[in-house]
Amino acid sequence: MTAYCPSCNKDREVTVSKQRESYPVKGESIVIDANVVVCDVCGATIYDDELDEENLEEAYGIYREKHGLLAPRDLRELRAEYGLSQRGLSSLLGWSQATIARYEAGAIPSVAHNSQLIHFRGDLDYALELYHENKHKLNSLEAKRAADAFGSVKDSRSITNILQSFLSKCYTQNSALYVGNKAFDIDKLANMVVFFASGIQDLVKSKLLKLLWYADFLCYKRQGVSASGTPYVRDYYGPIPAHHDMLLAYLQEDGIVETRPYEGPYEGEYILPLVEFDKGLFSEEELDVLIAVVTRFKDSTAKEISRCSHDEDGYRATEMKQMIPYSYAESLKAIH
Ligand SMILES: [Zn+2]
Repeated sequence: MTAYCPSCNKDREVTVSKQRESYPVKGESIVIDANVVVCDVCGATIYDDELDEENLEEAYGIYREKHGLLAPRDLRELRAEYGLSQRGLSSLLGWSQATIARYEAGAIPSVAHNSQLIHFRGDLDYALELYHENKHKLNSLEAKRAADAFGSVKDSRSITNILQSFLSKCYTQNSALYVGNKAFDIDKLANMVVFFASGIQDLVKSKLLKLLWYADFLCYKRQGVSASGTPYVRDYYGPIPAHHDMLLAYLQEDGIVETRPYEGPYEGEYILPLVEFDKGLFSEEELDVLIAVVTRFKDSTAKEISRCSHDEDGYRATEMKQMIPYSYAESLKAIH
């Protein structure tokens, strides 16, 4: 590979090699085996933005370890354990949401914050105390989830957690094209389901799955970002969320919806909401999309919406059981 060498004042062949270097972290110099770009001709070290970033990250990691500071991953795991969003955890700890977001993005936590986090993580009584003091600040879904987690903290691998982490894992490993440029947000997806199940009477499962598709794709069309970050696949009767059976199992396990069989010529199930819709999770634009989808399809039968979706380019161009790229949102026909 070649790069511009300022010492030679020329483009030169260069090599990446290891070099002991010290990086300043919070006023302390941390020595690491840094990856640096070296000019093959004159041996000068050439500054490289990307490598420098990586080296700095490593220095941060060493600094954290040395001082017993929690890493971004630790925070995410802690939140996952209790089913808390950044907002939820910050409410329990009495911090601003921005603080947690910064720490998860890699900022070094303050000593006071760090010891509070370690206390929260390691001392169930303390965590419970904070939970009881502040649970009124959580949204209903999170409060319920946290209650479950605290109730069965010894059995942290509850069914809900397993399903939730399965979905998160499956959904987040896809490229941006299949999740609409958005990290999967299970609370938003759950609340979209609640919105549709509350707003449409006798909502059947197969119809719900297509409404989710139309909503996420319409959001993407209008804003370039999906609402929930859910990937959708082509199925026999239309586009539906990937692993939709796991999704529905999760929604029921977590007490978000229940299903009831209906009597009729076909077999099927109604979806009924068990929690209230949390409007606060959505932007005005996203709420407009949800309302537009309900308005457009509330009187459509499952069969009609299935037929609509079969006309959509994204559905037609995708192979059976394959994921549908969000780029097809541009040409949605049934709704604009
Ligand atoms: Zn050189």
